[in-house]
Amino acid sequence: MMGKIKNLMKLRKFSLLCLFLSIPSSFIGSILNITFLSITGVSLLIIFILISLIFWRCPHCKKALPIRFNIDEDIDDNYSCPYCNGKF
Ligand SMILES: [Zn+2]
Repeated sequence: MMGKIKNLMKLRKFSLLCLFLSIPSSFIGSILNITFLSITGVSLLIIFILISLIFWRCPHCKKALPIRFNIDEDIDDNYSCPYCNGKF
């Protein structure tokens, strides 16, 4: 169970990384008209959305967690489920 939760947080961090990289790359790509960067940015955004939709669920009550996040609470490893208050 703990290993599963660690994986979830790793996956969450990876998806957030995709989000953070997707915004500047699609922005720069569209300004400088670099198709490669725009495509990379859009792909990263799609990866972020897919990971969030498929895997970003509470391990306790299995409800889908909000994609929106609080940077203070989300980056460390103690996220609380807004539905059942389970920490993971
Ligand atoms: Zn929960």
